[in-house]
Amino acid sequence: MASISFEGVAHSYERKPRGDRDYALKTLEMTFENGGAYALLGPSGCGKTTLLNIISGLLRPTRGRVLYDGRDVTGLRPAQRNIAQVFQFPVIYDTMTVAENLAFPLRNRGLDRATIGRRVHEVATMLELENVLGQRAAGLTADQKQKVSLGRGLVREDVAAVLLDEPLTVIDPQLKWLLRRKLKEVHARYNHTFVYVTHDQNEALTFADRVVVMYDGSIVQVGAPQDLFERPLHRFVGYFIGSPGMNFLPCHPTGDGLGIDGTDIVMGGAWFEKAAERAHARLELGIRPEHLQALATADGDTVPARILRVEDLGNYKLVTAMLGPHRLFAKVPEGQEIGNENTNLRFPPARTRLYADGELLV
Ligand code: ADP
Ligand code: MG
Repeated sequence: MASISFEGVAHSYERKPRGDRDYALKTLEMTFENGGAYALLGPSGCGKTTLLNIISGLLRPTRGRVLYDGRDVTGLRPAQRNIAQVFQFPVIYDTMTVAENLAFPLRNRGLDRATIGRRVHEVATMLELENVLGQRAAGLTADQKQKVSLGRGLVREDVAAVLLDEPLTVIDPQLKWLLRRKLKEVHARYNHTFVYVTHDQNEALTFADRVVVMYDGSIVQVGAPQDLFERPLHRFVGYFIGSPGMNFLPCHPTGDGLGIDGTDIVMGGAWFEKAAERAHARLELGIRPEHLQALATADGDTVPARILRVEDLGNYKLVTAMLGPHRLFAKVPEGQEIGNENTNLRFPPARTRLYADGELLV
């Protein structure tokens, strides 16, 4: 087990990178603490696999240093780093049996037969592979093959870290849920440093203690799932996390707070001051659908909006409203009146955020 640090790490796949745009990973400073359960979350192409392969040593970064427990491993090959890596698609030996596949990483390390037998059995039980231990891997289903691949990643107890790159992509949805829980159990039991790459927020938020959100080659926020939800530091985090994501409205400072086109929202003087300091930036108000209130009756601090659609989603209603030309979502508790064609939106100040050029200001 180890903590893993990046010092000024950047990577370009170009031989002669020029500007920032040639870098798949922009300069990163980051520490994965020993024993942490991390998820790397972001859309396709944002640099997750690149980052993971730099941790494992499959890729040598263009710039910067990688440290394991403070020791510089930048020049070391994957085998010298003592990590386990599980890929998106199964990496197994088709001609070997399932048991032999699971035993392989342990044989490689020269462990004794008894230990190997015990670990293979434990991992097989956990992943529900006991019944196929004697079968050749070639005959397995895609799900089973990926489980064997996962097993090979989890079988060693002495690894510095376990790295998983979208490991459940080929797995059937029902089994996905089960395996995610198993992975969490394995983490709780062995306390390895886990780095789990995914583009799926549900996977990231349920698996990880710390979620590392990536966007366009940069880390935009590292936090507990709750932080990412309550206090997105970057508009991308607000937009990407949540379903639907955070609402954003272009705004400008006015006397009582913030103005949105012709409408003023009373937010208090502090908001005005902050906004006025950054009057030349692209200012946006951000509020989650869970926090935006849609009320039947107008009040001093509500603004009128038109109701476009109401969807009943069982325990809440999803209201789509138009504030001028801007479309907003509000999640309204079942049974609360919202009005008919028109509603009144309330932006609770404690739940409302202000962003300047995409970064959190208030
Ligand atoms: P993710 O895993 O988040 O989908 P990647 O790390 O695979 O993203 O890719 C990040 C960026 O680097 C993308 O723009 C991708 O096209 C580019 N890239 C990835 N691998 C290579 C490669 N071997 N050669 C050139 N460009 C690559
Ligand atoms: Mg990838």
